[in-house]
Amino acid sequence: MTNLTTTLDEMFMLQAIELAELGARHGLRPFGCVIVNEHGHAIATAYGTESPLDPTRHSEILAIKLACKLRSPGAYLRGCTLYSTHEPCCMCCGAINHAKLSVVVFGSYRTDLPTLFRRRHRTIADILADTSHPPEIRGGILRDECVALFDRELPVVVAATPGGVADHHQYEADDEQDQAERVEDRDPH
Ligand SMILES: [Zn+2]
Repeated sequence: MTNLTTTLDEMFMLQAIELAELGARHGLRPFGCVIVNEHGHAIATAYGTESPLDPTRHSEILAIKLACKLRSPGAYLRGCTLYSTHEPCCMCCGAINHAKLSVVVFGSYRTDLPTLFRRRHRTIADILADTSHPPEIRGGILRDECVALFDRELPVVVAATPGGVADHHQYEADDEQDQAERVEDRDPH
């Protein structure tokens, strides 16, 4: 990987981290995503707003939906790069495949956060290699910074945002009932 690629990866990952922090300030889990087109322009950004009412609202899914609306018909996201603060889950891998993304860059590995994510036998590289449109994958970009997103206490913004902040708070309160169940439930991947 060239130094220029490294610099670009870190620059867009920093943007994804800022989005994750923004989500955290709204009481959400710190997941951020940026999609960059073939010309190096960020065309879609999102932070995860999943809740029990809509567990599909991962940052990658939201950014893919937004980016696809900006592309010409039939172009999908060929030539685009998806930056995610964390190793994408199986659901998002499916969307990455169907969107025909060319490159996936992520920060922390699933195994970096064992109290949040269940250990699984297949990595994102395994899963995406077995698809119709296997993208290039680069993991561990600003890894420590992405892991640290879960350690930080950020001031919560009171104003609600689209995606159901109130639902999220209820979810957290319910989680306190059962530690074992909490680890399982918090595993959105
Ligand atoms: Zn996901």
